[in-house]
Amino acid sequence: MMYDRTIRHCRQCGAAVAYRLPDDGDTKLRAICTVCHTVHYENPLNVVGTVPHWGDQVLLCKRNIEPRKGKWTLPAGFMELGETTSEGAARETTEEAGAQFIMEDLLTVMSVARVGQVHLYYRARLTSDVFDPGHETMEARLFTEEEIPWDELAFRTVKETLEHYFADRRAGHFGTHAFDIA
Ligand SMILES: [Zn+2]
Repeated sequence: MMYDRTIRHCRQCGAAVAYRLPDDGDTKLRAICTVCHTVHYENPLNVVGTVPHWGDQVLLCKRNIEPRKGKWTLPAGFMELGETTSEGAARETTEEAGAQFIMEDLLTVMSVARVGQVHLYYRARLTSDVFDPGHETMEARLFTEEEIPWDELAFRTVKETLEHYFADRRAGHFGTHAFDIA
């Protein structure tokens, strides 16, 4: 999910920006407009998703879009303005898998500072094993832990989240796991 977030043009006036230190004692380079001097601050984006489960199986989606086209992932995507993290995770699950489910508790919170993102995954209990995936997904299907294509997963955050899900399931108790992805 790495991508270029460099700001090139001012959001106020459209002029070119230059990356330099602001005059107010800030110690980080900021995108500053060369004409109107507006300082553009950049903050991390939230990626929200679910671990949809059905009996001893979880739902994975085969990506039909870059990056990692053809690799397997959990339903997830960028949170939209105006929605909660749980609402965003539910929306992505509906869009990418066309699944029917009930949202449950937060499972993982992962800071991915390298790409300026925070990923949050909720457990979601499927109420049907019939799926109607959207255009971003080639195929949506259920896997037991033994069937998970561990070497064909799209993202490290997905792998770590699945590992926590199955470990908690074996332990008979689900928690919330907050950690960093280097
Ligand atoms: Zn400007």
